[in-house]
Amino acid sequence: MRYGQVFYTFPAHDRSGSFIKKGATSMYRCDSCGKCVPPKTPCKRVVVKKMRFLHPERPRAKKGVAILKNGKKKMVWIPDPGGWGDQIAQESRMCPRCASTWEKEQREMMKQPMSA
Ligand SMILES: [Zn+2]
Repeated sequence: MRYGQVFYTFPAHDRSGSFIKKGATSMYRCDSCGKCVPPKTPCKRVVVKKMRFLHPERPRAKKGVAILKNGKKKMVWIPDPGGWGDQIAQESRMCPRCASTWEKEQREMMKQPMSA
């Protein structure tokens, strides 16, 4: 009985194409130029905004094998130091043309020296 509720919460999950018309799913509106793209145009997901995230330290992140002096192997825990990293804050759908211009702009911005 529970299953039905879960299914209706995520109707698109694993059933794409079975009850959704194919033409509608292959089109989208570009977030950059605001135009509806022609069908079967590939969609580019571009990261527009990033945020810094402090990942916590995990002393038992993964398993590893240490070889002892007598040749025996021993399972050891390999720690993950954590630290600052980037996370996606905002992502937008773009048509290939807008995505390529966006990438070009980003590359040119990276080339320029930082000035305040
Ligand atoms: Zn566009």
